[in-house]
Amino acid sequence: MKYSNNTKLVIVSPCYNEEKITAESAARLDCVIGDLIAKDKISSESIVLFVNDGSTDHTWNEIVKAHSLSSRICGVNMAMNVGHQTAIMAGMMASRSLADAIITIDSDLQDDINAIEHMIDKFHNGADVVYGVKNDRTIDPWYKRKMASLFYKIQRFLGVQAIKNHADFRLLSRKALDTLASYPERNIFLRGLIPLMGYDAVEVDDVISSRTHGKSKYTVSKQIHLAIDGITSFTTKPLEHIFMVGVAMMVIAFLMLVYVTVSLIMGHVIAGWASLMLSVWLIGATLTMGVGLI
Ligand code: UDP
Ligand code: MG
Repeated sequence: MKYSNNTKLVIVSPCYNEEKITAESAARLDCVIGDLIAKDKISSESIVLFVNDGSTDHTWNEIVKAHSLSSRICGVNMAMNVGHQTAIMAGMMASRSLADAIITIDSDLQDDINAIEHMIDKFHNGADVVYGVKNDRTIDPWYKRKMASLFYKIQRFLGVQAIKNHADFRLLSRKALDTLASYPERNIFLRGLIPLMGYDAVEVDDVISSRTHGKSKYTVSKQIHLAIDGITSFTTKPLEHIFMVGVAMMVIAFLMLVYVTVSLIMGHVIAGWASLMLSVWLIGATLTMGVGLI
């Protein structure tokens, strides 16, 4: 098979307080790029783009140092911490005009850098989207595996398309990036957005490893925010369920009205009970249905 050595690859890698890891990651990704150029699979203009996501340590200095050692290592410096998803999006959009294909990978290199070559092979075979899929998650702490599995179940129940065990290690062609750029999405959840674009996607195996330095920057609160974006940005089902709860409350309110009327006729009255209960259920039902409708 003939490879096009004109393929410009940009590897986009977000980093937040990763000073201990950046130099090693830069060296390893530089090697990957060098190897793929030597194999004539990508162009010699290919680069690694680190996105410094408002780090408060010396991550940016490490990126600058890595650039002085290899001009293939570049950086974008965000003004503040915008979060993993937005940092990846910023990196992809900043390098869109430079790239025929972009691969995103976390800078702690917990993903399998050997899979990058497989992704490029799939790209040369015509794929616009290639997902790195973790075949084994035993390295993740148990609470994270449980949270992820619960999250996939909720997403499936609510009808959101998502690729199981795929995080943000993926290749996108220039065409797919151009489509992604046309989405006006603000609360970015790339794992949900990319399948929506409708490109035929292929998968490569991603063997994950432990972090070599530093600790996870995905706090529980950041994971919960991501999960909320992953649901509310892609489905109106929770609102439909709220509306149906409102309808059920309205039915209860009418049954109560019937009960109160019958009690009144039969002379069983407790002062104030009927007006209070009816008001509570009617107002509650109206508000709940209104929220679902809006
Ligand atoms: N990251 C980021 N901004 C953040 C949090 C994380 O750019 O606000 C980066 C981080 O430096 C790493 C990647 O996103 O390269 C994934 O984060 P981490 O490894 O901490 O998450 P985990 O692998 O534990 O889920
Ligand atoms: Mg990690």
